[in-house]
Amino acid sequence: MQHFPIFLNLAGQRVVVSGGEEAALAKLRLLMKTEARIEVYASAPAADVLRLEAEGRIVLRLRPLREGDAKGAALVYGANEDDREDARIAAIARAEGALVNIVDNLDDSAFITPAIVDRDPVTIAIGTEGAAPVLARQIKADLEERLPANLGLLARIGIAFRQAADVLPMGRKRRDFWGDYYNGAAARALAESGESGVQTLLGDLLDRHVMASHREGHVDLVGAGPGDPDLLTLKARKLLDAADVVVYDRLVAPQILELARREAIMIDAGKEGFGTSTAQDDINDILVAHARDGHQVVRLKAGDPTVFGRLDEEIDALDAAGVSWAIVPGITAASAAVAQIGQSLTRRGRNSSVRFITGHDTKGFCDHDWQALARPGEVAAIYMGKRSARFIQGRLLMHGADPATPVTVIENASRTDARILSTTLSRLEPTLSEAALTGPALTFLGLAPRAALAASTELELQRALS
Ligand code: SAH
Repeated sequence: MQHFPIFLNLAGQRVVVSGGEEAALAKLRLLMKTEARIEVYASAPAADVLRLEAEGRIVLRLRPLREGDAKGAALVYGANEDDREDARIAAIARAEGALVNIVDNLDDSAFITPAIVDRDPVTIAIGTEGAAPVLARQIKADLEERLPANLGLLARIGIAFRQAADVLPMGRKRRDFWGDYYNGAAARALAESGESGVQTLLGDLLDRHVMASHREGHVDLVGAGPGDPDLLTLKARKLLDAADVVVYDRLVAPQILELARREAIMIDAGKEGFGTSTAQDDINDILVAHARDGHQVVRLKAGDPTVFGRLDEEIDALDAAGVSWAIVPGITAASAAVAQIGQSLTRRGRNSSVRFITGHDTKGFCDHDWQALARPGEVAAIYMGKRSARFIQGRLLMHGADPATPVTVIENASRTDARILSTTLSRLEPTLSEAALTGPALTFLGLAPRAALAASTELELQRALS
């Protein structure tokens, strides 16, 4: 790097420009953004330069720059568009101890003027060592487009609020506050309700952060239900609305994530089936780290967090780290799925118990008490049962289950794209594979859709109860 970028304080400083035509005007336009005292030396200045003098924005001397004129100047610009005259100016400036820039002459210049993106007080200077002005212009155009025009205003409002924000302890807590302010919230408030909206936002944000700074971190392990946002508990909604951090699973519906506070940090902890334990360790670490930062963390799990949710591993990690936690139940897939087929999970005279079993765990397909499950009248809700369907079917038939036992697979229960496959144990495969389901699906052993629903289509009911 040949040229080192700095921001020079020009307030009240003398800046001298030699020249009165286009090249000089281009520099004047930039210099007039500053609070410098600008002096222009030109024997025959252009009309625009005369106008600037008339407006009192520059001091104009209608003669060439002479020895002594550069004394005490912070910067001198040679903008005469005349090599000999500019060389004379450069010599005077150097002799009198001023930094000099000769327009379009890198070699004779002590400094160069960068391309500037101006969002005062935010200023971005772009330099290419004079090598690629076109590239500098492209970068400038890019940034001009990307940075909101009101960024400067937001920064000015922010600066005025700095003292108030100093009630927050220095360091991370204060940084988080400003992070929240600049991270889209301020721009939105400005767009929605103007400067007063930004002031209100700052007040609210500060209240929240002050409260948070006195608050211990905490993790709520929250059930997100089967997908329909209306099936969230009120408590889950409230917690989502207040969370600083939301760590969510792959199965949590996007419409539910929408309910989180806009400023919340959203962390996708998506795990496919057969997930590795490393991923679980990472999730545990994330929960602990955010709680230790004093954050209110919502750990959002599909359905009910206590059903096949690997909840205990997370609780153990939180306990080990001394982080407080609470469980907020949700509606489990089995409840949503029976609702979808108009059935009860239990029924007098049919089944007095229901089992929730999983098709596989982290080690592979799961073994169960097949003997008991094969008995007539048994009802089991099989979670994560798609890939293990053939295994389960084989085990049950081997243990003497009636091949005609009703089996119902409900995909995307409670969601608008719910699908129902009504079949029997002997036909479970290949029916399931042929249906090529892509969403989460729950398999009921021993339950068929209620007769009235089953009658409406033979094998498949779309959106049965919606
Ligand atoms: N804790 C969750 C279950 C997590 S295991 C709960 O209580 O529901 C993931 C399995 O849940 C999926 O493989 C699928 O079998 C089932 N599941 C989750 N959401 C579902 C939905 N909307 N419809 C059908 N099955 C669902």
